[in-house]
Parts: sequence; structure tokens; C-alpha cells
Amino acid sequence: MKKVMFILIVIALSFASAFSMGRVGQVPSVSIPQDIERGRVYYIVRVDARVEALPHIIRRLNLDVMGNYQGYLYLLLRASEVRALYASHIPYQFVSIEREKVSLPKERRVRAQAANGPYHSYLEVQKELSDLEKDYPGIVKLYDIGDSVEGRDILAVKISDNVATEEDDEVDCFFVGCHHAREWISVEVPLMLARYLAEHYSDNREIKDVVDNSEIWIVPLLNPDGLEYTINVFRWWRKNRRDNGNGLFGVDLNRNYDFMWGIDDIGSSPNPASNVYRGPSPLSEPESQAVAQLFTSHNFRVALTYHSYAQVILYPWGYTVEPTPDYRLFSFLGDTMASLMSAVHGRWYYAVPGGSGFYFTNGEFTDWAYGKYGTLAFTVELPPVSLMQGGFINADSDITSIFEENLPAALYLIKWAIANK
Ligand SMILES: [Zn+2]
Repeated sequence: MKKVMFILIVIALSFASAFSMGRVGQVPSVSIPQDIERGRVYYIVRVDARVEALPHIIRRLNLDVMGNYQGYLYLLLRASEVRALYASHIPYQFVSIEREKVSLPKERRVRAQAANGPYHSYLEVQKELSDLEKDYPGIVKLYDIGDSVEGRDILAVKISDNVATEEDDEVDCFFVGCHHAREWISVEVPLMLARYLAEHYSDNREIKDVVDNSEIWIVPLLNPDGLEYTINVFRWWRKNRRDNGNGLFGVDLNRNYDFMWGIDDIGSSPNPASNVYRGPSPLSEPESQAVAQLFTSHNFRVALTYHSYAQVILYPWGYTVEPTPDYRLFSFLGDTMASLMSAVHGRWYYAVPGGSGFYFTNGEFTDWAYGKYGTLAFTVELPPVSLMQGGFINADSDITSIFEENLPAALYLIKWAIANK
């Protein structure tokens, strides 16, 4: 992964010179074959962040912003989006061309376990969770909560004392990772949380108290099809792998929940080609349905959903700038978690409402969990802080420290839920 990050940085830094040869604001002069139109080739372009019409264009075209670095916004675009940018008279520079591999490697299983280094593939997550259940049968129970579009199991672990029993006097807490395929670190943090709770139940009084007094549900890998696609085919894939027809794939699972779904085309897109495509109807996807089913059968007091990147904690609402009735509580809990996280290794996190502080979303998980079930739900955008520090790529050596700084916040939220159920 270090190598990948190194390449990414070299690529990014070298483009300034490579593309200063007068291609600013021009569409590529190559003819565009059909498979490019179908989204198999992407362009990373950068635009001066001071361009006045830019926020409007990004919202109108629902462009995929990969990050902001040294005064430039970096966008991941299909050819048609490059043309739309051109038609909008926005000056831009090409940074790189990113290709999807045309076919899956033959040795798919073997590759899947090697190609992503210490990060977990679908099969590795499955093994890790069943090992946990085997090693700690008294407090860990594995549940298959649904199948993905391509038929992979969506797995949840429940961690609690008397784990096979639903204990109504214990508060339910929910953790989920990998709504978005390319955000690999968002799988590792909840997975390591599950392992930490199981391993330290017998030797750490604080962990024993937490596990004895709550029912903790952890879904580390909500989007297994997307994750496998990023490992085997295209590292920058975000959505699930729904076939939308016309060669277009994927629904943004974090725009598919049935609360304020599709209320505008700013917080999500009706266009199946878009990276924030909300799907044909609310909860159209089996992955979001799996989460919804868990919420209808449990009364979750708190929830954390892990994403990357930005080092930000977001809370509802995402669909509007209006504050929720629980604004003070959300901001108190968010600020407390942010300072707990920042204190561990000095990586700075802060907390804001999604819509007024970050960007608009609709049909998103935390708005849905709070709006529909009253769950105090937070999004954690894990490190790094910007694209040039890796963006969706975290160094292998950072996985453990990112977990370490997220652990106290997760424990704090569970303990708050126990005290305030
Ligand atoms: Zn995300």
C-alpha cells in the first residue's frame, strides 16, 4: 500500500508539470469508444477551488469530488462529465486517466487475499468473524443478515453477555463499515472493534462492563460486492454493484435509505451513472434492506457509521441546514468523541452537522436512523484529512493507530447509551 500511496502522490504531483502544456479547459482529443461511455475509464481532473461557479456546477452535475489540495479540487469524472464541465466553461487540468480492468483475474480468490495487503477482503472478513465466534462463543454470535446484489453474505456480529438471548434491559448499539467500497479503512475499524471487545472481555474491567450491559451489533462490511470490485477491478469504485442497465452499475447505499429519500437532486442523484445515484426507489438495495431489517427488530440507541476520509464527525441533519430537535445533545456527543479521538495520536477531528457543515445528502444513514428510529447516529470520516495525504488510501502502518484513536470514542458512545437508555 505504501507503494500505491507513493504512486498516487507522484502521479498527483507530476501532473502539474505534465498538464501545463496547454490542455487546460480542453476535452481529450481522443475518440471515445463505447466502453468509456459506459464508465470503464475515468479521468481525474483538478479545478481551481476559487472558480466561483464551481460549487454550483459540482452540485448540479453531482460530480465526484475526491479531495481538496493546495487550492485545487480533484474530481473523478467519466468522459461525459468531462464534456459537461467543458460545456460549463469551467477551466480544468487533467491529472490522470484511471481504467477499470476489463475482466476479473482468473485466480480471483487468491488475488483477493493478496492484492489488498493487510486490508480485509470479503473472504477474510468472513473468516475473521467466524474465528471470533469460535474463539469467544459466550459473547460473540455471528448473524447472516442478508445477501448482497451478487449474492455475498452480509454479516453482523453481536457482542454481549448471554449473547444468544435478546436481553431487553440492555441497550442496543450499532456499528457499520463500508457503505462505500473504496473506503477500505472503514472495514478495518469496526472489525478491530469487534476483536478488541472479544479479546479484552476477560482481562479489562471497563470492557467487561460495556459488554455485560449492552448489546453491540457490528457490521464491518455492508458492501461486499463493491469491496471485491475495488480489490480486483477498479480501486476507486464507491457504490454497490447493482446492474442499472445500459452498462451502468451501482447504487450509492448511503443515499438509498427511506428517509427524505430523493427530496432533491443536490443531496443525491436520479442518474444511474452518478456516484451518488440513490437507486430507483427507497431501500431498493438488499444491502440497505439488511440494515433496515436489523433496525426494525432492535431498538438502537446509538449508531456509528465509518467512512473515509476527512477526520470529521457528522451528525443529522444531512438533508437540510436546519438543526435537529436534539442539536445540543448531538453536538455535545460529537465534540466529546472528537476530542477523545484527537487526544490519542494528535490527529485532529471535529464534529459538525452534515448538511450545514459538510455537504448535503439525502436518503443517508444517520438522517434515516435518527429521523425514523430516534437513534443518535454519527458518521465518522476516518483519516486522512486530505487527498494528498492519501485520500482513500491509508498506509498499512496507519491502520492500527486509526483504530486506536477511534476506540475511546466508540466506548464512550456505548457507555453513554448504557447510562442513558
Ligand atoms: Zn463514504
